[in-house]
Amino acid sequence: MSLFQIAEPGQSTVKEACKGRAVGIDLGTTNSLIAYVKDGEPTIIPGPDGRELIPSVVHYSDDGSVTVGAEAKNLASRYPRDTIASVKRFVGRGPEDGEATRTMTPYQFAESDGRVVKFAVAGGRRAVTPIEVSAEILRTLKVRAETVLRDDSAGPEPSEFANGVDGGIDSTIDGAVITVPAYFDDAQRQATRDAGRLAGLQVLRLLAEPTAAALAYGLDKGTKGTYAVYDLGGGTFDISILDLVEGVFRVKATGGDSALGGDDFDRTLAERILDEAGYSDGMAGPKHAGTRPDRALVSRALREARAVKERLSDSESTEYALELPDGRRFVRIVTRAELAEAIRPLLDKTGRACRRALKDAEIRAAELDGVILVGGSTRSPCVRDYVAEVFDREPLCDIDPEHVVALGAAVQAELLAGGSSEVTLLDVIPLSLGIETMGGVVEKIVHRNSTIPCGAMQEFTTYADNQTGFDIHVVQGEREAVDDNRSLARFYLKGIPPMVAGMARVEITFLVDADGILRVSALEKLTGIENSIEVKPSYGLTDEEIERMLMDSFEHADDDLVERNLRVERIEAERILNATRAAMKSDPELLDDVTRAATEKAMAELETLAAGEDYLVIRKAIEALDLASKPFAQRRMNRAVGAAVKGRSVGEVEREISH
Ligand code: ADP
Ligand code: MG
Repeated sequence: MSLFQIAEPGQSTVKEACKGRAVGIDLGTTNSLIAYVKDGEPTIIPGPDGRELIPSVVHYSDDGSVTVGAEAKNLASRYPRDTIASVKRFVGRGPEDGEATRTMTPYQFAESDGRVVKFAVAGGRRAVTPIEVSAEILRTLKVRAETVLRDDSAGPEPSEFANGVDGGIDSTIDGAVITVPAYFDDAQRQATRDAGRLAGLQVLRLLAEPTAAALAYGLDKGTKGTYAVYDLGGGTFDISILDLVEGVFRVKATGGDSALGGDDFDRTLAERILDEAGYSDGMAGPKHAGTRPDRALVSRALREARAVKERLSDSESTEYALELPDGRRFVRIVTRAELAEAIRPLLDKTGRACRRALKDAEIRAAELDGVILVGGSTRSPCVRDYVAEVFDREPLCDIDPEHVVALGAAVQAELLAGGSSEVTLLDVIPLSLGIETMGGVVEKIVHRNSTIPCGAMQEFTTYADNQTGFDIHVVQGEREAVDDNRSLARFYLKGIPPMVAGMARVEITFLVDADGILRVSALEKLTGIENSIEVKPSYGLTDEEIERMLMDSFEHADDDLVERNLRVERIEAERILNATRAAMKSDPELLDDVTRAATEKAMAELETLAAGEDYLVIRKAIEALDLASKPFAQRRMNRAVGAAVKGRSVGEVEREISH
């Protein structure tokens, strides 16, 4: 029952798959932003407050309302559990993932099925997944862009966007390119894609952040080259080495530190100041002897440190002022040189990661064609100087390092959205496709997000003896039970000659062509009987429906798994009961009294328990029956092997006597 692909997921040239306005989104750990190409120029879309960056923070309040961005960030210290910051660290991660649990966070984690982390928010009344939290950020950005694009299109050239309906200018965004770190694995990428979809965005492509930065600089216009992208954000550091070959970037090496960024600079500076003011921060450990500062003081000190650090990017020195709990005001001048000296050990950590990445990519710094700066923290002159020192050259920094990723994503989005009609667009299957198997359980054959065209094949067998037909029910969706998915088509494979259950070999093949048409065919291998059907899987399904189905599968993931397991165990119980009964009838002489009694007892128990609702109990009862009937099964096996005709494989004999 192995699943294998008969076609490599390829790239299809889908023309005009998306025409209209497309946006680029930098979904960052600390900050996020959205951009689009305006009159040929990639442009950041500011929020209503005029600010371009939106803090990647989501607050869920008790009354059910959700706030995103700066407002949510302000609520973080008062409601640490209900305010999720740095959700990106949890995207696509399971609760067992080291980082997810190790990271020191104030969050409360809700029960989960073991596959995804869930935060208990809104005073513990709601459980949300990282996908849902990310979707809130994306939705806010989308609304922001829609507002601007609507105003934009109401300008001098409305015809391009007008729908022909008066006042009904279509401002919907047709597609989005979302950036992800180069090291994101499949689960993290899939989760990001899901978040986009949940936010009502058609995700044209996920783009690696360093690649986006390189695109913003137009480096793809060259023919070849190797570039380093040094990305220092708020809480993460990433170094990537990119190789450009014939206009396509490949990530040659990545490295970094997922717990190192500008926030650490703030902490270093704040600790120093608090220490001088006679307060030692708990974070610094017991070596400090001063009075321990309370949370409010630490938070004020950190905020001031951040402001001071950022001001030092534009001036040589600035004032650090802190209100102390005893009413005193601590003030002193901090210089750029002092900041540089304080954070030097942190920068050295990034330097080591850079050298390692160069080594992994098998290239020397001198051989690079350029170094790109990304991330808010690279605005600090001391960081720039440090990068220049490590790579022995001036890094590229003409484009604002905080904007460069979003701008590059916008460039890519414009390309995909029909700015150029001949682009290669990777289109994917929005919902999994599969067939119904015994017990009303879905066996997925083509998984969601597979790139089309694609195909997969799986072998099935008959459930009952003398079964002459095969009812093939094609379904679409993510849920485990057939009834909860969408029924696409049904067809039959008839005329299979009577055989014992499990003998027939029915090969089911799913092929999805470049236009999204699904062809399902079934072939019984012993007889060569075959049948097939064609369906258009996405036909009639709106994006909202897809969204709802995905939402349902997230919400019901726990119940579904239990339901699936229960059905599977019940079917297995029935199968083993039938098989044992048949064997006892055909070979009674191999059954001693003790084994017979034990087997019958185990059978009776299994029969009763299989009617229950607990799949684990049923599984245990199946194992008990297996154990009780073992001596009997052993004897049957020995006899069969002994009597086996020369030339037959043990496998064949085994298959025969297992019925
Ligand atoms: P992320 O990629 O993690 O979302 P950003 O690229 O937005 O993060 O970087 C956020 C970090 O940049 C914060 O630590 C912030 O203090 C820092 N930062 C922003 N502006 C400046 C500046 N002018 N000088 C130094 N650091 C800055
Ligand atoms: Mg970033």
